[in-house]
Order: sequence, then C-alpha cells, then structure tokens
Amino acid sequence: MRLITEDEILTETLTRYPAAQVEKWLQEVFWRRYWKGWLEQHPGVWSLYRRRLEWLRGNIGAEVLARADAVVAGRSGVAVMDRFARELAETGYLHNHARMWWASFWVHVEKLPWELGAEFFFRHLLDADAASNTLSWRWVAGLQTRNKTYLVRRSNLERHCAPEWLADAAGLERLNDEVVSAVLPEFPKPPEDQPDFIDWGAQEQAANHAERFASHPSKPPEIEGRCGLWIHGEDVTPELGNLGAIHPVSVLAGSSGGGSAVQSSFRQAVLTDALRRAEARFGVPGVLSGDGPLTLRVADWARANQLVTVCAMAPAVGPIADELPALRAALKESGTELLLLRRHTDFELWPHARAGFFPFWDSVRLWMRAKQKRGELPKGA
Ligand SMILES: Cc1cc2nc3c(=O)[nH]c(=O)nc-3n(C[C@H](O)[C@H](O)[C@H](O)COP(=O)(O)OP(=O)(O)OC[C@H]3O[C@@H](n4cnc5c(N)ncnc54)[C@H](O)[C@@H]3O)c2cc1C
Repeated sequence: MRLITEDEILTETLTRYPAAQVEKWLQEVFWRRYWKGWLEQHPGVWSLYRRRLEWLRGNIGAEVLARADAVVAGRSGVAVMDRFARELAETGYLHNHARMWWASFWVHVEKLPWELGAEFFFRHLLDADAASNTLSWRWVAGLQTRNKTYLVRRSNLERHCAPEWLADAAGLERLNDEVVSAVLPEFPKPPEDQPDFIDWGAQEQAANHAERFASHPSKPPEIEGRCGLWIHGEDVTPELGNLGAIHPVSVLAGSSGGGSAVQSSFRQAVLTDALRRAEARFGVPGVLSGDGPLTLRVADWARANQLVTVCAMAPAVGPIADELPALRAALKESGTELLLLRRHTDFELWPHARAGFFPFWDSVRLWMRAKQKRGELPKGA
C-alpha cells in the first residue's frame, strides 16, 4: 500500500546508520521491491493464477473444496495451524514465519491447491499484495525457484514457537519432519493452461519491461486543463512522489473492493488518511469513494468534475491494474485521459529483479552507493 515507501525507509535508515550495519533490515524491506519488480516483468504469472483460481472453484471435486473450507475455518485438527488460521481471520496479520508454516502446511501436508490458500491470505491480510503473496506461495510450493520448496517441520516449530502455542499438541504428528513430503498432487487445469516455470528469456523480460514502463513515465508531463488525482490502494502517498507537482482540482480515494470485513475497514481507514493528507497538500476537496465497481466510481467522479486528465500512481500488476483497460475506456467516453506515473526509483530498480533476490540485492547495493556518492542518499552516521 505504500503507507510508508521503501524510499522513505531507506533515507531514514541511512540517516542514522551506515549501510553495512543495517544490511539485513534493508534486505527485508527490499524483498518487497524484488517481488514487485519480478511480477512486473512476468505479468503472465498473475493472470495464470487468477485464471486457475476461477477454474478450480468450478471444477475441483466437492470433497477438496470442503476440506479447503475446513482448513480455512481453523478446523484442520492441527491445533497450532488452526490457531494461525483464526489469527489471520481475526486480525488480518500473521508473522512471516507463521505465513511460511501455514502455507507449507496447506500445500505439503493438506495437499490442497496453492491457489486457494493464496486467495485466503489475499482476502484477509491487511498488507495483501499481489506480488509478495502470489510469489511467496509459489516459492513455498516449489514453483518459483527451481529445486526450492519450503517444507514445514515440527522441529522448526518447536524451536521458534512460543511454548503455549504448542501446548495443545493435537495433530502435531502430521508435521513430523520425516512425514512432510514435497510431492504435489495433480489438480485439473483449465484449458490452454501454461507451465508454472516459464523460461523467460532476457529478450522477453526486456520487452515486458519496455512495454509496461514506457506507458508509465516517471516525470509528469505538462498537464493542460482540469486534472484530478486518483489515490488507490497500491500507493497511498502520491504527494511524496512525482505527483506532488501537479495541481488537481479534486482528489478521489478509491480502490478495488473485496476481501474480509477486517481488511476492508483497514483499507477504508488508510484511504481516508491518504485523502486528508492530499486535501491538506493540494488545498482541494477530496471524495472518499464507497464500494462498487471501481471503473464506474472513478469515471463518475471524473465526469462530475469535468476532468480532462485523471492522474494516479501506476498500479503494479494486480487487481487494480486488471481494471485499467475498462477504466481507460470508460474515461475516454467523456474525453478524459488517464495519466499513470511510476516512482523513479521503481523505474531504476525493478528491472534488476530477475534471477533471484541476492543478485538483485547486489544491484541495489551498487545503486545505493552511486546515490550516496551523488549526495542523493545519506551516508549513515
Ligand atoms: C505465504 C506468504 C504470503 C505473504 N504474503 C504477503 C503479502 O500479501 N503482502 C506482503 O507485503 N508480504 C507478504 N509476505 C511477506 C512477509 O511475510 C510480510 O511482508 C511480513 O511478514 C510483514 O510483516 P512485518 O510488516 O511485521 O514485516 P517485517 O518483518 O517487520 O519487515 C519489514 C517490511 O519488509 C518487507 N518484507 C519483509 N519480509 C518480506 C518478504 N518475505 N516479502 C516481501 N516483503 C517483505 C515488508 O514490507 C515488511 O513490512 C508473505 C510471505 C509468505 C511466506
């Protein structure tokens, strides 16, 4: 959501500490950037996931769906995993380890389709993110990095869980180290399905990159006529980016709906906060959009305010970006253009998210050093 951007975190951190002392922390933050950049260059992985999800719901056996519902509802019989399922549904949060354990339990112990488990996370997590969620699930399932699967192990839980979480030992034997196996069951696939591992050549990546990035400049062009700022859930701090330079006559905060009640009320609170900041920054009235189809809400607002241009941060691959073709068409009917901008640092860094996180991190380190040399980043205390 970018309540706090990676750029802000990086600058704040390097104001206080030398990079070498905080490398692990910065790596955590840049994992998010890595996943975003990777999916941006492999958008087909997101559409494949969405297509399979739709298809599985209609074509999978009733007993598999019933089991999936029971596990999601915290009725798997493995007490510690049921605790995590309830925690996620009640709070919208799970620690990274719990996410890894639960996802692995779903895939490698329950042998359920990973796409359904990923959707459960996506509907409930307050920080639900198309890239981090889909690609982390693929990684757990052994579909993201060749020969790498994440297996949940009882010994690992015993080492890292608070003892009271394991006090109810029901079902723990299903997680015994020697029992959990990485053999994935086959589920029916939709027609014209694609392989999980696509051998993306450098040329294909470059083409995806060029296509997606060329249409989203990182500097706003001269905007003539009435323009409006649309803030959506992929980036709620546009005033800190290149959109800070525009002069909107109105601001709309509205995002894709869906998800649990906890997630939805969090999203509304975040958008309300973003709207207040934008109103103060630009000195214009804002509109908080309610639920309903995103395309209609944005198009109605643009028409009511006689906008010539709607400006927004470019949403990365995910549900909001999926709605863009329909939105562009609806806006065009009233003669309104959609101008989407990228943050300059995404433009610089995302193309490096290719082979794996650590090669990406090597590029980030060089990039940081160059920026420090030019005085664009602090050098640490
Ligand atoms: C199956 C699974 C699903 C996940 N789904 C999501 C998701 O939908 N959205 C999401 O943002 N993260 C997701 N993650 C990654 C990670 O678990 C969360 O980013 C992290 O747990 C958020 O908690 P925190 O803010 O306390 O993170 P901290 O541990 O305090 O880390 C600080 C920040 O670094 C970033 N970060 C840290 N680890 C990761 C990581 N592995 N991947 C990406 N970013 C990371 C996040 O922005 C995080 O807020 C998922 C991980 C797994 C294993």
